[in-house]
Amino acid sequence: MTLSQAVGRLIGVREHVVDPGGGGAPRVPGPAEAVVVGGGIAGMSAAVVLAERGVRVTVLEAAPTLGGRLGAWPEALPDGDQMNEHGFHAFFRQYYNWRSILRRVDPRLDFLKPIPGYPILSSQWPTEEFGKLPPAPPFNLLALLLRSPSLRLADLRSMDRDAALPLLTYHPERTYAEFDDTTADELLTSLRLPDRARAMLFEVFSHSFFNHEAEMSAAEMIAQFHFYLLGNPEGLAFDCPDEDYATAIWGPLRRHVESHGGRVLTDAPATRLDRTPGGWRVTTGDGTSYPAGHVVLAVDPPALARLVGASPVLAGAAPQLVERMSAFGTAGPPYAVARYWMDGDVRSDRAVFSGVSRQATLDSVTLYHRLENESRRWAERTGGSVVELHAYACEPDVPAEELAERMRAELVGLWPEAAGLRVRELRARVEAQAPAFTPGSDRWRPGVRTEADGLYLAGDGIRTEFPSALMERSAATGILAANHILRTEGGAAEPVRSIRPRGLLARH
Ligand SMILES: Cc1cc2nc3c(=O)[nH]c(=O)nc-3n(C[C@H](O)[C@H](O)[C@H](O)COP(=O)(O)OP(=O)(O)OC[C@H]3O[C@@H](n4cnc5c(N)ncnc54)[C@H](O)[C@@H]3O)c2cc1C
Repeated sequence: MTLSQAVGRLIGVREHVVDPGGGGAPRVPGPAEAVVVGGGIAGMSAAVVLAERGVRVTVLEAAPTLGGRLGAWPEALPDGDQMNEHGFHAFFRQYYNWRSILRRVDPRLDFLKPIPGYPILSSQWPTEEFGKLPPAPPFNLLALLLRSPSLRLADLRSMDRDAALPLLTYHPERTYAEFDDTTADELLTSLRLPDRARAMLFEVFSHSFFNHEAEMSAAEMIAQFHFYLLGNPEGLAFDCPDEDYATAIWGPLRRHVESHGGRVLTDAPATRLDRTPGGWRVTTGDGTSYPAGHVVLAVDPPALARLVGASPVLAGAAPQLVERMSAFGTAGPPYAVARYWMDGDVRSDRAVFSGVSRQATLDSVTLYHRLENESRRWAERTGGSVVELHAYACEPDVPAEELAERMRAELVGLWPEAAGLRVRELRARVEAQAPAFTPGSDRWRPGVRTEADGLYLAGDGIRTEFPSALMERSAATGILAANHILRTEGGAAEPVRSIRPRGLLARH
């Protein structure tokens, strides 16, 4: 434990138990069956916990591979197959629930390697370094204020400190009651920060949640500041797998579920839900039916809206859920991922992962040949590099290849040596599946439990009563859904953990 974490502990910045778990049998006493729709983080987290407790679980995944937005698949390239992925992911250290699922297949999490540094690049201003701050507040905040080239003491004097107070007073209900109808953009403007500080310290944040500040709830931004910076004892440093996600995560998790009697079916899209006397029946695209007492819908928001819409029984069984789908099912703005296999490399001092501020399209750069073993071997063999570019909230209706080339041109503006790299191969995608956190969305965001008995939701767009986001929210809601089922069936629930539940200056 570092000094900053020890001081943080004194003010309650530490791991908190949200649900102690336990309370039932190590294995459910009677026969119990569950269908989990969706084989991403949320669905597989639910399946792991259910299978371990003896629930007969079937995972139905529409795609040919598991993982959803953390998926990976082989890509045929002219000089040999390479794994490609849905995109680079940072595994932060306060992802307690996701890490507990991952520990099932690697108890010491050896496959996760620390990533040195977390720079934010700009063509206008000096690089900001998020990765080398003390891990816990208040030291991380103080260090940021003292060290940041983007924020000086004079700036602090001129900023509106009252407007900044909500960032320190996060509360799971009051923050949403007061700020959910305000945009993140309005909140940031009210701080009266210099443009430089706003761009380098704040805007990168909202983009990382796949939302534009002008369309994102200020309450959600406050919650995310709390989760990643102001209530988090683990710091902004993060780890990443050194193998692709299929090898490191999905193959082992699938085998884990199967070794506990679960079934994991890919190419099995659920097309509708019906009621049966004993619970539910899920039908897949080929007409097969899967009956079960419990169903967890762990799909992305647009897919959830489609499935709910195709299941007439829910109009009677879960009218509130049906009503919420028109807003919930609208994804956030599109995101683009472009992986380039290039001749030559960028400078050796470039970071493995860099955030990017205020470029029209580019939001991050990852050097895969310095991150994952297969890409490293390819680069050693060819003398090339594997570079992935992301746009987290980009212009709609632009083809993926065009977005890729825009991002590459913007990269050259930041790293001039990239101009000399010849493109050998490009795989580019643009998709829109991330949940929207628009102003007012707290009113219609569904929680894990639905009005219908035995029907639960999980995923990164589902509400939690404790701080969580992105991959961690997916895992946490998957575990919560499993816990509801276990408690009904007499099985011991799984512990759920989070960070400090409220802001440092929040009233209780
Ligand atoms: C480019 C990119 C970068 C990211 N970076 C980070 C990061 O650095 N850190 C972080 O924490 N998070 C990051 N995220 C977010 C993270 O990927 C998601 O929060 C998380 O993977 C969502 O998992 P999920 O299980 O909730 O949903 P999904 O991954 O969307 O899984 C849903 C699954 O349901 C399946 N499905 C849909 N419809 C059906 C159906 N009808 N029947 C059966 N199956 C169906 C889908 O195929 C999919 O596999 C990133 C996301 C992207 C796109």
